[in-house]
Amino acid sequence: MHSRVLIANRGEIALRILRACKSLGIETVCVYSEIDRDAIYLRFADETICIGPAPSAQSYLDIPSIISAAEIADVEAIHPGYGFLAENAHFAQVCRDCKIDFIGPSPEVIAAMGDKITAKEMAKKAGVPLIPGSTGLVDTEEEALEVAREIGFPVIIKATAGGGGRGMRVAHNELSFVNAYAAARSEAEIAFKNSGVYVERYLETSRHVEVQIMADKHGNVVHLGERDCSIQRRHQKLIEEAPSTAVSPEMRKAMGESAVALAREVGYENAGTVEFLVDEKGNYYFIEMNTRIQVEHTVTEEITGLDLVCLQLEVAGGKPLPFTQDEVQLSGHAIEVRINAEDPDDGFKPRAGTIERLFAPGGRRVRWDSHIYAGYKIPPTYDSMIGKLIVWGEDREQAIEGMKRALDELIVEGVPTSASLHRRIMNNVHFRRGNITTSFIEDYFSG
Ligand code: ADP
Repeated sequence: MHSRVLIANRGEIALRILRACKSLGIETVCVYSEIDRDAIYLRFADETICIGPAPSAQSYLDIPSIISAAEIADVEAIHPGYGFLAENAHFAQVCRDCKIDFIGPSPEVIAAMGDKITAKEMAKKAGVPLIPGSTGLVDTEEEALEVAREIGFPVIIKATAGGGGRGMRVAHNELSFVNAYAAARSEAEIAFKNSGVYVERYLETSRHVEVQIMADKHGNVVHLGERDCSIQRRHQKLIEEAPSTAVSPEMRKAMGESAVALAREVGYENAGTVEFLVDEKGNYYFIEMNTRIQVEHTVTEEITGLDLVCLQLEVAGGKPLPFTQDEVQLSGHAIEVRINAEDPDDGFKPRAGTIERLFAPGGRRVRWDSHIYAGYKIPPTYDSMIGKLIVWGEDREQAIEGMKRALDELIVEGVPTSASLHRRIMNNVHFRRGNITTSFIEDYFSG
């Protein structure tokens, strides 16, 4: 096992990794940007190093700064968290060249899965069901339109380098296709410096269901059940739950086996997520693989009783997985809501500002993963997520009731948050029935 790890991230996930390291007796080195210098969690680290000014390009995304910090602090490994450099194959390669272990899969696997077309090709090889679509990139509008006609409208045009819901456009007919194609391409070029796009059938009433996998360095790969992340806004997740109300035990087994087959096909190591869309008939189709720990890993932890970040650290350190697939037990139901500092009255625009007062919910079966405190200044520079509220119940009904109570207890003064939206969702009759699709927010909460 590694004895000293650098955490190349900030906010709640930096704190989450710190906690896991401490529980395993691993020394921690936290890096921070100038604007994050007052972050309270820095006090819990064994060593802290400033890596540059606020803009992430000059700090959390600055590879030379982070590698220098790792060398100065003499760490054996780097945990990238999620976001920033977590899925940057070049960074993983630089770590390898500098003989620092990157806690995640190999640079080759990150690169392959980071390119959605390559990922789809690998999934096909592994026998995982795919959404009908172009077999590769579509280079011209004519070619793209031809594919769209073949598979039938509606279609979605997606950036092969896409992420965070960007570089994606839906077209319902030929007329809107031309604009959608151009918009997806230019957004992809700006966001990812790669204008490559592909076309696939747009599944209008689908759910986003993803499977957590974990793989060690000894060829053991297991899946830890699914998470339903259908409650999204602009293709970004808002609420996640496990298990999914749309997944039967047989489907869980099939989806889990598909996810494991893909992981084996690519020689996957460490934690990963295989994302699927599930249609009304219960067919599932691969969309992409995320090669990192995810924001919503907590709900899987709550229903499996496992600590996924500890497992990441253990398998990266060379330990074999301490359990087999048959030993994975799912119990009860967990829901996570993302608390963002944003203004519901102003199109959910992110809001920086000072948290004047804070009361964090608690009690049995309630988990609050957050780095904020009263007096904390939310910087305008980074993501607007300020915390995650997770509730476990013996069943879904109990988890929802628990979440309602926890949301009522959450008091954040000084900045508006998404908590008010979550309260409304918890009371929504369709949500309560488990009748959810990726257009749930659009259908019931727009405007
Ligand atoms: P990103 O990497 O940007 O997060 P994904 O490929 O994971 O993009 O897709 C994000 C979301 O976009 C999905 O959860 C789903 O809501 C929607 N989506 C993507 N592809 C399709 C599709 N073919 N049909 C319907 N919805 C889709």
